[in-house]
Parts: sequence; structure tokens; C-alpha cells
Amino acid sequence: MVPKVLAYATNSATGPFEKTVIERREPGPTEVFFEVKYAGICHSDIHTARGEWGPVSYPLVPGHELAGIVTQVGSEVTKWKVGDKVGVGCFVDSCGECEFCKGGQEQFCTSSEKPTVWTYGSQGRDGKVTDGGYSQGITVEENYCCRIPDEIPFEAAAPLMCAGITLYSPLTRWGAGPGKKVAIVGMGGLGHMGVQIAAALGADTSVISQTMSKKDDGLKFGAKHYYALSELDELKKQRGTFDLIVTTVSAEMDIDLLISLLKTGGALVDVGLPEHPSTIRLGALCGGNKILAGSNIGGIAETQEMLDFCAEHGLAPQIEMITGEEITEAYDKVVASKVRYRYVIDTSSFGSVDEA
Ligand code: NAP
Ligand code: ZN
Repeated sequence: MVPKVLAYATNSATGPFEKTVIERREPGPTEVFFEVKYAGICHSDIHTARGEWGPVSYPLVPGHELAGIVTQVGSEVTKWKVGDKVGVGCFVDSCGECEFCKGGQEQFCTSSEKPTVWTYGSQGRDGKVTDGGYSQGITVEENYCCRIPDEIPFEAAAPLMCAGITLYSPLTRWGAGPGKKVAIVGMGGLGHMGVQIAAALGADTSVISQTMSKKDDGLKFGAKHYYALSELDELKKQRGTFDLIVTTVSAEMDIDLLISLLKTGGALVDVGLPEHPSTIRLGALCGGNKILAGSNIGGIAETQEMLDFCAEHGLAPQIEMITGEEITEAYDKVVASKVRYRYVIDTSSFGSVDEA
């Protein structure tokens, strides 16, 4: 039987996270139930919970970086058995038949009847609003789980399901590799994975941070160079030199400055999703045939490829483990760039649902 599980929810944009009990469904024939052991806190959870991206249906149980262990499988499940270590990211279902699902980009499913179901705050196939990973268990379609390789420390694996794939996808798509000069802007949860992945791909990797305070860590993650917005004159000496810049910045920033750092034909790829619109001077793109692009997480097969890549290259997020009671405070610390470099919630800290 699939139990009711403990979770942490917020009831308002300003509210604290509080322990609650939620119901999960019995796995259908092609679904698995897994115990969520660890859940990462992504800045997207914060934008969402605080209503920065638009109206929210509360109570909200966020969490789209899940790592857990399968404890029940449906009658037709072929990929998983009880005891397997699995990860789930930003979505838990899609139509599987449209151009984008078939092309391995399920996050862009175009079906109006069976659209992408996001891990939380989305309408599930059962008609209920989905609850995310800040919980002790979840029921998911088997094809929307990924295998967590043994080489990756299990407690650090969850953030790969969003932070990892969100950087791996544009870095590989835009050719980060030997002979390419790549900069990662913002060294938070996404950014610190981007530095590791770009370096492992063989690119000459730089960090562009707000200050020099994380320089030692950046070099440890594999960056060769480290620049800061606080030392603008030094940074400006790099004008016209980067093949690829990926910005993970969660707030509005000077996009024209980043474009000026690109060399002719270079690409600036944004993955940051700040609350307010940004402005750019389009002329900065034309002079130099420069490219401005975006990137949104990655598909299931690509996410598995990223996990295997991290296992092969010994990459993992640097995490700080927290309890459920610490989520509220953790949100403020993420916004203040104080996290090193991803908070992961240990769901065993929630206690037992029988005692709740
Ligand atoms: P995070 O851990 O808070 O990292 C964001 C980093 O941005 C900070 O560490 C900081 O880097 C930099 N930053 C913050 N405010 C800044 C400012 N005012 N000016 C310049 N730099 C600033 O957040 P995250 O979890 O990595 O997420 C980053 C963004 O990506 C969020 O907007 C999130 O919603 C979005 N996101 C997008 C996707 C996608 O698929 N496109 C997926 C996941 C998340 P330094 O400390 O180094 O300065
Ligand atoms: Zn995320």
C-alpha cells in the first residue's frame, strides 16, 4: 500500500514552510512509487513559491530535484525493480507521441490532451494538482525516472536532476569543449555544476560572479579564470573573447555587458529566469553576428546521459544538507547567494507519518 507521506508546504508567497501530510496514489500499471530520500532546493522553487512568476495555487509542495529508492512497481513496469535508485526532475509525464516527446524533448510537449505534467503545481493525469519533492514519497510514470549511477554520492545526486541537466544541455548543444572559451555567469546551484561540466568537456572555463569571494571554489570546480562584476575593469579586458557564455543569474543584470564579452559569432545562452523583464541593446548582437539563446532543462534521455557523464567524470554538486524545518531560512540564504552550493533536504528529518 502506498502510504500517506509527510511533506513540507507553504500556504502563501511570504509564508513559512510547514509540515503536512499528503496522499500519494497507488502506482498504476506503468508507474512506480519511490521513497524520496533527498530533494534539492532550486531557485525556481523560490520564484514559484513567492509568486514571482505569476499566481500560485497554495498550499504548494515544491521540489523538482528528487533522489529516492523504488519501493513499489506497477504490474507492467519493466525498467525498475524495488530497491533501485532513481531521480526525477522537473516533469513527471507528457504525451510521448508529439514531435518533441519523440525527439527526446518531453519538456516541450505540444499535446493539448496530454501535456507535460510538471512535478509540482501542475494538473496531474488524476486531475489533482501535483505535489513535488519536498516529501517522503511520490508516484511517477516509470519512463520519467532516471537511473542514479552508484558512482555519484546518493545524497548529492538530487540537484543533478535540474541544476545538472540545465547546464549540461546548453553546454553540449553549443559546443563547449577543447579550444572553446566558455564563461558561466553566476556561481550558485546551476552555475557551480556548469563550471564542473564545462571543464570536464575540455573547455577553457571562466566564472563571472558578483564578487571574488567564491574564487577558490571556482578554481576547485575546474575554472581556469575567475572574474567578478565588482572588478569591472578586469572583466572588461575580456571583451570579444568568449565563444560561449551561459548565464544562470536569477536577477536582472547587464545583458549588454555579457554580449560585449562574446567574440564574433559567439553565443550568449540564458537559463536564468528573473522575475522582471531584461533589456538588451540589439545593436550589440548585430555588430559581431552574435547569438542570444535560451535553454530549458533537458529531456529524459539527455538527463540520463548527463548522469552517466557526471558518474564517468566524478562530478557532483557540492551540497549543504538541511532538515525540513530549515527550508524557510534556506530560501533567504539562496536569494542572498549564501548557499554553498545547493541545499538538499534530508526527508528522514521529517519523522514518521505514523507519529504525525
Ligand atoms: P542560485 O543558486 O540562487 O544561483 C544564482 C546565482 O546568480 C547566484 O549564486 C549569484 O551568483 C547570481 N546572482 C544572483 N543575483 C545576482 C545579481 N543581482 N546580479 C548578478 N548575479 C546575481 O539559483 P539557481 O538555482 O542556480 O537558479 C538560477 C536561475 O536559473 C533561477 O532564475 C532559476 O529559476 C533558473 N533556472 C532555470 C532553469 C532552466 O531550465 N532554464 C532551470 C533551473 C533554474 P554569484 O554568487 O556567483 O554572484
Ligand atoms: Zn530547478
